[in-house]
Amino acid sequence: MTYDPSNIFARILRGEIPCNKVYEDSHALAFSDIRPQAKVHVLVIPKGAYVSAEDFSASASDAEIVGFTRAIARVTAMLGVAGDGYRLIANTGAHGHQEVPHFHVHILGGQPIGKMVTLP
Ligand code: 5GP
Repeated sequence: MTYDPSNIFARILRGEIPCNKVYEDSHALAFSDIRPQAKVHVLVIPKGAYVSAEDFSASASDAEIVGFTRAIARVTAMLGVAGDGYRLIANTGAHGHQEVPHFHVHILGGQPIGKMVTLP
């Protein structure tokens, strides 16, 4: 799948659309999900143009992958969810119900998150 630079997260990265920023460094941006599914619901996105977890894992540089992974740990610490735990989700493609085609992980926490998955 080709990266679409008009996707909503690309527009947030370019500052064209506002977000409730939680954290930013040279590799990653974290912001609150606009439709939170838990007391804490934050999205972490890489700054590079990657469609999905697949694309990021295969094509990002080592520095981007390390930077992004470390950013997630910084954000969970900042949010105060690291101790009690949280769920990290990377919806991928059609079966994964990915809506926004810019790779992102969801951090869900601040309360028990329940069963891992409910199939339709
Ligand atoms: P996906 O299903 O692609 O993993 O999840 C995309 C997430 O992005 C959804 O949870 C949705 O609420 C969130 N989202 C969609 N548009 C916006 C937006 O404009 N701003 C923010 N902050 N979140 C958004």
